[in-house]
Amino acid sequence: MNIILFGPPGAGKGTQAEKMISHFNLPHLSTGNIFRENIKNKTTLGKKVTSILDAGELVPDKIVVELVADELGKEKYDKGVILDGFPRTVKQAEELDTYMNQNGKKIDSFVTLTVPEEELINRILSRGQGRSDDTPEKIKTRLQVYRDETEPVLNHYQNQDVVKEIDGVGSIDEIFGRIKTALT
Ligand code: ADP
Repeated sequence: MNIILFGPPGAGKGTQAEKMISHFNLPHLSTGNIFRENIKNKTTLGKKVTSILDAGELVPDKIVVELVADELGKEKYDKGVILDGFPRTVKQAEELDTYMNQNGKKIDSFVTLTVPEEELINRILSRGQGRSDDTPEKIKTRLQVYRDETEPVLNHYQNQDVVKEIDGVGSIDEIFGRIKTALT
């Protein structure tokens, strides 16, 4: 089962991904986590993307698409994946479609978490993970980038009839319950 977990920054994708990993027994692919890991380890990729993440902007499509294609080629994703933070632009979604077609795979579900903007900002400011992009100014940039570049990805998948819209307000378990219901 190939699932895309979608939503704005602070919607709870990472939290719900953790629960889905064990429940559905699927591996997690978070592009944000991969970038942060590379930054921490000062790899070539990490050095290339540090200032981009820091500014709350998007990493260029080419870099992200190559990274994800490489990753998805690994055996551990043969039975499926929970994609988190990707695709984040329509171009990335189109490239993913091509990749899936070429490899005899398909996206089964596109789970989108809906949370009001005010709540998003509160959640990010209170999660206190010390992320350099979690300051009020950068959150504003990330939400703007989300509205301009990422939200159109939802329309892209609406045309493919795989979208499950989930109310992202409530307790972690309540929200997870809604996801389970939508996926089974
Ligand atoms: P959040 O959803 O909380 O903003 P992520 O961990 O998904 O956090 O992403 C953090 C940052 O990593 C983004 O602001 C962006 O700079 C970069 N990034 C992650 N995924 C992508 C992607 N698919 N395309 C471009 N940039 C990305």
